[in-house]
Amino acid sequence: MSAKRFFASDYAEARSKFLEAAATTGGRMQSYRHPLKGPKGEALATDVLRIGSPSARNVVVIQSATHGVEGFCGSGTQVGWLRLGDWKKLPKNVAVLLVHAINPHGFAWVRRVTQENVDLNRNFPDFSRLPKRPALAELMPHVAPDAWNDATGAARRAAFAAFVAKHGPMGLQETISGGQYDYPDGIFYGGREPTWSHRTFEAIVGKYLTRAKRVAFIDMHTGLGPYGHGELITMGRPGDEKFDRAVAWYGDAVTSPEAGTSTSAKLEGLMERALARMLPKAEVTPIAVEYGTYPTGFVMESLMADNWLHLRGDLASEQGRKIKADIRKAFYPDEDDWKELVLLKARLVFRRAIANLAA
Ligand SMILES: [Zn+2]
Repeated sequence: MSAKRFFASDYAEARSKFLEAAATTGGRMQSYRHPLKGPKGEALATDVLRIGSPSARNVVVIQSATHGVEGFCGSGTQVGWLRLGDWKKLPKNVAVLLVHAINPHGFAWVRRVTQENVDLNRNFPDFSRLPKRPALAELMPHVAPDAWNDATGAARRAAFAAFVAKHGPMGLQETISGGQYDYPDGIFYGGREPTWSHRTFEAIVGKYLTRAKRVAFIDMHTGLGPYGHGELITMGRPGDEKFDRAVAWYGDAVTSPEAGTSTSAKLEGLMERALARMLPKAEVTPIAVEYGTYPTGFVMESLMADNWLHLRGDLASEQGRKIKADIRKAFYPDEDDWKELVLLKARLVFRRAIANLAA
């Protein structure tokens, strides 16, 4: 069966596909309205669907669009899971909470960040003791240049190559993508305060999860790793309770930046750590499903270009349209085979989470 019908071409279509599929389940739905509009004047919201017995204390949370544009993928898996009827096989002691577009503004504007130019998955640090990343200072003129052209591109590639020669490829990746709190005009900026999406996440957790005993948190991402491959990423090392539980549930292929086995760098200010803090009495087992798209160089260039475009460029120009097409492609390969791979893996991951919570 073709997967592509579950995936959308823009945020508004994704939202209506989700709401229509959700309505067929008889589950409890709620919308958290966003104060701003999308590029076509469309309403923005985070939509939540809870399926399962009201008394179930084991909850699987499946979230899309933490990184806006990556929501094309996550939304498609949520809609597919609903439309293919997987929810009908839910055990009595497990509920599923689908969080559709936790960062609807980024999704609608085809951006990774929130409207505050913040990376939502770096926006959960201890704001009274923000992490520092001094090595980033020498790279910032190249990460966020005043102009986006061949000359600034050549200077950036030279600066990055010199940095890699000293610190290695993962050193560059961690410095740029690990999360930073000093450059609001940069990328992977974690912010100085909770964003709208951060506060909405807290509201959802407060309303739907405070009585849960066990929570499986599945956060859907794209942009790292081989095309169509869904890497299962958790935090910690072998021997840590959370890490070992994730391996027991999802298999030996689970990776972790701390263990040095992931395509992802070590990250600051993560949502999944905040979730565990918000639910101190619950057993929380988080996993990020990270689907590969295209080579990391293209993905990173598209992010820096998009950041420049929204800060200093012209969205309506030919260059602006090219940059928007590139970032969309970098996080959402609009290919049928990619969508098939994505949905297949997602259904298997959701099934394992549900089965392990039911056990
Ligand atoms: Zn992501």
